[in-house]
Amino acid sequence: MSPGVLSGNMMERLRRVVGTRQQSHLECRRCGTTLETDGTACPACGSSDIARYDF
Ligand SMILES: [Zn+2]
Repeated sequence: MSPGVLSGNMMERLRRVVGTRQQSHLECRRCGTTLETDGTACPACGSSDIARYDF
């Protein structure tokens, strides 16, 4: 179990509870950083492996 995956799941659960708006969510698969804009690369680690969740 890696810390990155764990924190990513926690963020997803938090957002599911807090936000009910229909929107897309972009998150770095590598470090779990949330991308606020429609970016294609992570601002924190530079990875282009971005996960997209549609609520
Ligand atoms: Zn990243």
